[in-house]
Amino acid sequence: MAHGHGLARRESARTEMHKSGESGKTFVYTKTRGYDVTRNPHLNKGMAFSLEERQQLGIHGLLPPCFISQDVQLLRVLRNYDMKKDDLDRYVFLMGLQDRSEKLFYRVLSSDIERFMPIIYTPIVGLACQQYGLIFRRPRGLFITIHDRGHIASLLQNWPEKDIRAVCVTDGERILGLGDLGSNGMGIPVGKLALYTACGGMPPQQCLPVMLDVGTENETLLKDPLYIGLRHKRVRGQAYDDLLDEFMTAVSERYGMDCLIQFEDFANINAFRLLSKYRNKYCTFNDDIQGTAAVAVAGLLAALRITKTKMCNHTIVFQGAGEAAMGIAELILMAMKKEGLTEEECLKKIWMVDSKGLIVKGRDHLTHEKKRFAQEHPQMKNLEDVVRKLKPTAIIGVAAVAGAFSEQIIRDMASFNERPIIFALSNPTSKAECTAEQCYTFTEGRGIFASGSPFDPVTLPDGRTFYPGQGNNAYIFPGVGLGVTACAVRHISDEIFLTAAEALAQLVTEKDLAEGRLYPPLSSIKDVSLKLAVKITEFAYEHHLATLCPEPSDKQAHVRSLTYSTDYEEFVVDSYHWPEDSAIMQSCKL
Ligand code: NAD
Repeated sequence: MAHGHGLARRESARTEMHKSGESGKTFVYTKTRGYDVTRNPHLNKGMAFSLEERQQLGIHGLLPPCFISQDVQLLRVLRNYDMKKDDLDRYVFLMGLQDRSEKLFYRVLSSDIERFMPIIYTPIVGLACQQYGLIFRRPRGLFITIHDRGHIASLLQNWPEKDIRAVCVTDGERILGLGDLGSNGMGIPVGKLALYTACGGMPPQQCLPVMLDVGTENETLLKDPLYIGLRHKRVRGQAYDDLLDEFMTAVSERYGMDCLIQFEDFANINAFRLLSKYRNKYCTFNDDIQGTAAVAVAGLLAALRITKTKMCNHTIVFQGAGEAAMGIAELILMAMKKEGLTEEECLKKIWMVDSKGLIVKGRDHLTHEKKRFAQEHPQMKNLEDVVRKLKPTAIIGVAAVAGAFSEQIIRDMASFNERPIIFALSNPTSKAECTAEQCYTFTEGRGIFASGSPFDPVTLPDGRTFYPGQGNNAYIFPGVGLGVTACAVRHISDEIFLTAAEALAQLVTEKDLAEGRLYPPLSSIKDVSLKLAVKITEFAYEHHLATLCPEPSDKQAHVRSLTYSTDYEEFVVDSYHWPEDSAIMQSCKL
């Protein structure tokens, strides 16, 4: 599938959008008329429709007579937003706006992404998923169930857009740290794809959220009359695998082999299995494993700029050995190998502790993934003992065990290392292994800290202030999505995630590092995503992973030309023109 240079084009059954690369102006041709225009979130501009547009689109009289610009509409939304009494109300309000006026919704998000991201994404999207049946207004995304086997291709035909570049899919089994939420987990793909647009600039009509409903084990939901999903236990085994296989084939056949399919919040048992099954066959990745890996490794690479060491100089202990830990460990391994170490040498530097203790050879309860990181070492149960014994340079918490990094552990880390690296990545904030304040206090400001959830800046008694970095996956996946779709990559290798991590670490300034920040400010995320996408595109062409021909000579201009603008477009209607001197035109010029 080829994209034109300097000319982004989007089509749906009734609407075409043309963007002129030269003037930057965007025009929309639509066959939709009348009431349907004002009820279509892609087309709706509210009172920003000009008089000519109102007349030509057949909506004159369907709107109040006043003309209100997007700037003023933004103010109105922000004022309403401020009046909401809690975060769930804010979520419902923003989703309502997305259903009414997409451009305005993204304009609002872009106006202060740091403020709105926690509402449409973690942590509030988690609360929204728990209450999805209650707050349900309109369906968003495609719901495919286990009973649709054999018909997925025709379900995809029901989706109104033909040019889909990114799909985000979940089966709802492990929604954030909240467990099995079944169909209510749809909030996650919806939220993630909103960030593809808000942070990465991917046009929303090219993004498709999908729920694969195979049932749920959640008894409370099964009994809840408001639950929106199938009312039976999860179907597993061959039927589940067949559904997934059919889904992957159907998406690739309908939207192309370069259509990105992001897996999100699948349970451990399926996440690793499906990733290894599909990663070399389709354009796919698992954000919980690979996106997390890239953001954490970017934090480590930024930390190396402070310690002035190489990755291979470090001994890293993970608290947790699940999706996040495995993904991060694999990418660290790749970074170490790039520095010249053999795989065996790298593996000796990465240690993991799970709920049964240190992962060592011959221990019980070792999955295939864990065996890879099992060390030749006597068994140890307690994290404090492990840290004392191994004297790591970095500890990474991804087990969702609140407070696991005790005062003793942090003080020990500070005694072995001039600059100990302490990442408390578990979400939400209540599950963090330690707080930013504990890290900076117990290490006398020497700790290099990153967290999964945001922490406020910390001022020590000596007056020094530190700004903890938040290892938010949103630094990675929108840029990766934009990059791989911009050059039609067909398989997303781990090298692409390492490239993204390296690019992100390079965007951290010396000033950021001096203040304790391991990531660029979230407010610059659009720019960050664009830069990541350009790096990924360059990498993809260099390594023959890109299939878009001809290769764009100016990658940055190419990527930028594909991005979404929140500015309202002008409608071009060629069927009927009101005479210039008609009474109505005259009255409106007054
Ligand atoms: P997971 O369920 O796949 O893994 C959890 C792991 O923790 C398992 O290996 C389990 O054995 C281990 N564990 C449980 N209890 C333990 C204990 N008492 N001691 C040691 N280990 C224990 O979950 P996941 O997807 O890997 O996510 C883990 C945490 O990481 C979550 O809190 C999640 O929010 C967080 N996370 C953060 C980011 C980020 O910061 N960007 C990204 C992804 C996940």
